[in-house]
Amino acid sequence: MPCNVQAANSGPKTDGKWIIVIDPGHGGRDPGALGSFSKEKNINLAIAQKTGNYLKENLKNATVIFTRNDDSTVDLIERPRIANKINADLFISIHSNWAKSKSVAGAETFVMGHTRDQENLEVAMKENEVILLEEDYSTKYAGFDPKSPESYIMFTLMQNVFLEQSTDLAAKIQHQFNTRVDRKDRGVKQAGFWVLYNTTMPSVLIETGFITNLSEEKYLNSELGQDYLASAIFRACRDYMNEIDSKSEISAIKNTVPATGSESGVMPSGGQLVFMVQVATSSTKRETSSQNFKGLKDIVEIKAQERFKYATGVFSEYPEAVKYRKEIETIYPDAFVIAVKDNKILPLQQALDQKRKK
Ligand SMILES: [Zn+2]
Repeated sequence: MPCNVQAANSGPKTDGKWIIVIDPGHGGRDPGALGSFSKEKNINLAIAQKTGNYLKENLKNATVIFTRNDDSTVDLIERPRIANKINADLFISIHSNWAKSKSVAGAETFVMGHTRDQENLEVAMKENEVILLEEDYSTKYAGFDPKSPESYIMFTLMQNVFLEQSTDLAAKIQHQFNTRVDRKDRGVKQAGFWVLYNTTMPSVLIETGFITNLSEEKYLNSELGQDYLASAIFRACRDYMNEIDSKSEISAIKNTVPATGSESGVMPSGGQLVFMVQVATSSTKRETSSQNFKGLKDIVEIKAQERFKYATGVFSEYPEAVKYRKEIETIYPDAFVIAVKDNKILPLQQALDQKRKK
């Protein structure tokens, strides 16, 4: 069984900078689904590149990385790795769908999850099938057989920590497809896709339309259709990012009043230097809920030197943090003040010097 690498990057997105990995499905020796005159891999690449351009041109805070930017072969196992390695904030896999019946049409967006629905399972099986083209796939994918329903049982054991965020983005994409570019809305669905299973950030797999439906195949291959679909994906991403960024800013302001507001704390964005009170450190990841921290709310996780540090209170001035440390001394006698910038802990003296110079 492959190990579940989810949860490596959970917690709120806060720095206002976004790394978005766009994954055009298939490519190279893997054509993906076949239509009457076109191949899925080419459609996916065209829509992916257009989406990337929209993101780059319109969002100054977005960096876009492609898992492939031409007709090359990229193993399925490599695609999530590319995103994980650079600590991406979003993973968007772009595909076109296939059905036995030529009348089936519409767009749907998948998030990682277990499905009992035969139709959803078949989409995942078809998209995972490329594994079989790869050398030594049985070792590489730890015995995962994309064609055997039994293989998909492992997905029942997973806990997708990004389910809510992924579903939110997926819903925004479907909303755009439906209301702005007149695609038939087949909804947000869950199934076991290898690429999504192995990503450590919110991720979606978009089936932009059916290559097996002639009118959709034409649309998917047209410049205009590709543009519309890409602009829809772009707008959904933009709305999703804006929502998260604005939540981060609101929380950062709220956090100057300690121990109120949301369950989990959020760090300020944009390179602001703040002072916090560190209450715990751990070699394993912990839920930042208040019951795990003696009733303290607004706990924030900071990863440093392979350890997880948990801190609370966000103050722009050092004396305020000192005062707050005193207040929680009875429940956390060993708590101490730390300086944090861009989600990293700075040496306190250096932080105080920086403050003084301003
Ligand atoms: Zn595909």
